[in-house]
Amino acid sequence: MSVKSYSLKKDGNKRLSTNFTLRELVSKDGADRALVDTKLIDYLQQIRSHFKKAVIINSSYRTTAHNKAVGGQPNSYHTKGMAADIVVSGVSAKRVAQYAEAIGVKGIGWYETQRFTHIDTRTSKYYWKDKSGNSRNTFSDCPYAEPSSNLTVNSSGNGVKWLQWHLNNLGGKLAVDGTFGAKTKAAVIAYQKEHNLAADGIVGGATRKSLKIEVI
Ligand SMILES: [Zn+2]
Repeated sequence: MSVKSYSLKKDGNKRLSTNFTLRELVSKDGADRALVDTKLIDYLQQIRSHFKKAVIINSSYRTTAHNKAVGGQPNSYHTKGMAADIVVSGVSAKRVAQYAEAIGVKGIGWYETQRFTHIDTRTSKYYWKDKSGNSRNTFSDCPYAEPSSNLTVNSSGNGVKWLQWHLNNLGGKLAVDGTFGAKTKAAVIAYQKEHNLAADGIVGGATRKSLKIEVI
């Protein structure tokens, strides 16, 4: 995390990444000073590049006064330049939350009725829906928890079901039986080849991350 301070007057047109200028992140009350975390820009750019659609920033940095005026929580990450409420053109707020989760964003709020997604650069995980306090463990539609260790032939259990569910979502026709047999192995190797991963039939961190992003 590295929060930088800017001046709207001086830096308004400054490009902070390929697709974002400072002007898009300043406080909506017109204050000149703005804070922006470089990590937030990284996340925003990853989201922009993944969906290849415009990312509209409803609100990012807020001065204390503006935060109060819009009913933000007193110590909101918005007042620290560490948060953004975003809409990706043509993409549901839930899908944006799912993608943010897949790339490792720790603070995510899915606002279903208001149709935006809050992301922030906090360092310990907190996910919620609609309002803070309404916490949840994941935004994924997969009913099985992601395995924390490598999977390979003869692995079994819910981690393998997680894998089979993801492969099926990408067009596979595996039985979601929690048994890592020959068919699952063949599907894993085919997936790895297609995605320039080591085609070893072992599902480690890189393959899992790729699978999570791919289904979104
Ligand atoms: Zn927010």
